[in-house]
Amino acid sequence: MRKLYNEDSFLFEFEAVVTGCSYHDKKKLYEISLNQTAFFPEGGGQPSDLGYLYPENQEALIVLDVQEKENQVIHYLEKPIPVDEKLIGKIDSCRRLDFMQQHTGEHILSGLVNKHFGADNVGFHLGLSEVTLDFNKPLELSSLRQLEMLANQAIWQDIPIQAEFPKEEVLVNLDYRSKLELTEDIRIVTIPGFDTCACCAPHLKSTGQVGLLKITNVQAHRGGVRVNILCGRRALEDYTKKQDNIFSISASLSSKQDETAYAVSRLKEETLQIKEENNILQTKLLLEIAKTLPSPEASCHALLIIPPMNDIAIRNMINELTLQYSGYVAVFWGDDVNGYRYLIGSKNRDCREIGTLLKEKFNAKGGGKAPMIQGTAVTTGETLKEIWISL
Ligand SMILES: [Zn+2]
Repeated sequence: MRKLYNEDSFLFEFEAVVTGCSYHDKKKLYEISLNQTAFFPEGGGQPSDLGYLYPENQEALIVLDVQEKENQVIHYLEKPIPVDEKLIGKIDSCRRLDFMQQHTGEHILSGLVNKHFGADNVGFHLGLSEVTLDFNKPLELSSLRQLEMLANQAIWQDIPIQAEFPKEEVLVNLDYRSKLELTEDIRIVTIPGFDTCACCAPHLKSTGQVGLLKITNVQAHRGGVRVNILCGRRALEDYTKKQDNIFSISASLSSKQDETAYAVSRLKEETLQIKEENNILQTKLLLEIAKTLPSPEASCHALLIIPPMNDIAIRNMINELTLQYSGYVAVFWGDDVNGYRYLIGSKNRDCREIGTLLKEKFNAKGGGKAPMIQGTAVTTGETLKEIWISL
């Protein structure tokens, strides 16, 4: 079987003859082999090509998966094609180009990381939306930013990329990156001046076709780092999405696009201050409302049923009132239709006991410790008043 993708990575249409057709029970698909194919099977971290086969004597068939088995490229289809039938194969070129942009970008950056920091790429994931590179040494974001610039300079230089199977005697003296200890059929992908790496996947013809390489995330990973990158079309789409986002943030904050981080932190500080002021005001308001309660001499318990208010202010007020009332101080906020949230505090009693009573009476949810419990309850203000009178 001739593997055309090794000869020309931009060959997206080809003629072939069926050399094998059998049914795969587990996959419930037909396994088709051809005398030659441009369909790349999954390998080297790169997902398989997809596309169509157009047999001479039947309708077009979708290629659902492509895998390599015993050096044969197997095309998986829902219907069989008779052996010896001639066909035309067409690859989803957008999918292949996208994968090649990400993969060649990965080689450029991995080569640079290896050359400048001696770190190896020990994991490469090329998904439909995410590309990650795992390096076995910790790397600073600032260092990676410098390499990102160098990688893009390599792209702008539009360096021709070579992919070949060197003879053994050449290979012995060649210094190249490799994840596997292979001894035969080693394909070497060379980006002169930047990277030499063993790789079975199709690559772009020159670095310029990568278009753009952008590092989008860096995080610590197994003693090294995991780096997310986006190349070519994906990088542009990501830029557009982020540009739209920043445009909308800067418009709503009336700040310049490159000053939105400062504007957001200032807004956060202001919000925090307003929240603190609000807590103080609401606590004052609640203490005013609490003046309507029977005095601690008349009743040792206190019950307040109020519309929704700030949790912190309610907690502050309960802390104040438990100094005055020896029994339970309870606040229920909400309404009879949607239910209530509650906080109950006490200086002398175990609030978990009244928590149990509320669960028995109307299946209240919640928990806490002896001095204070909290939860939610679907009940009415009238029922609550009755319970408190009976305490
Ligand atoms: Zn590779």
